[in-house]
Amino acid sequence: MNSQDTRKIRLVMLLRNAGITDTSVLAAMERVPRDFFVPAAMADQSYDDIALPIGRGQTISQPLVVATMTEALKLDDRCKVLEVGTGSGYQSCVLAHLCRRVYTIERHKSLLIEALKMFDELKLHNITAIAGDGMKGWPEQAPFDRIIVTAAAQGDPPSALLDQLKIGGIMVVPVATNEHQVLRRYKKEGEDTFAVKDLMGVRFVPLLPNLAAPSEGSDGDINRKLA
Ligand code: SAH
Repeated sequence: MNSQDTRKIRLVMLLRNAGITDTSVLAAMERVPRDFFVPAAMADQSYDDIALPIGRGQTISQPLVVATMTEALKLDDRCKVLEVGTGSGYQSCVLAHLCRRVYTIERHKSLLIEALKMFDELKLHNITAIAGDGMKGWPEQAPFDRIIVTAAAQGDPPSALLDQLKIGGIMVVPVATNEHQVLRRYKKEGEDTFAVKDLMGVRFVPLLPNLAAPSEGSDGDINRKLA
């Protein structure tokens, strides 16, 4: 066993001790090599429970937050899932092990291209990814059984996303109010009725409208293992 494997096992134990009980979520996180998704210079921190930069001023989320969001989705292998904010593609890969199909949208084309390479490399063929504004959802593929947003909405989540969730479906989304962000779970009970629960305090990059201009955040670029 190499040192990354040891670090990975330690991380899974940390997630378990922090209250993640769904063994399928823990197993999926054990299967996805987070070290492939982080800057080469930070490889030794891949399995620390921290967010890390992925370029364009964006971050790969903290593992405990990935685990909490994934667990809150209550996935099964029949689920069609929309992810807004592909970023590095790490969360998409975790989801891909637990559901039927993942549709994921990223507003930075350059990040999307890197993520597509990872899906190929890891032979995950049930992920469909596009560059676009995920605040509008993906009307051609709606409705979705589950929606996960990995960037913080200002106030209420975009109405297009709530509309594109199936009745009985679950959405998890970080929501920002003033200085604070909270991870919120919406369960759609009727056409316009939701059961809402706050899960934990979080810190995400903001959910922004429209495709990013090629220059946006380019001073925050990094080298990745597969670059
Ligand atoms: N799930 C990612 C985390 C990425 S950080 C991972 O595992 O690495 C959040 C991402 O959301 C950023 O890449 C950012 O560019 C993207 N984003 C922000 N607003 C968006 C929008 N409206 N549509 C699509 N992507 C968006």
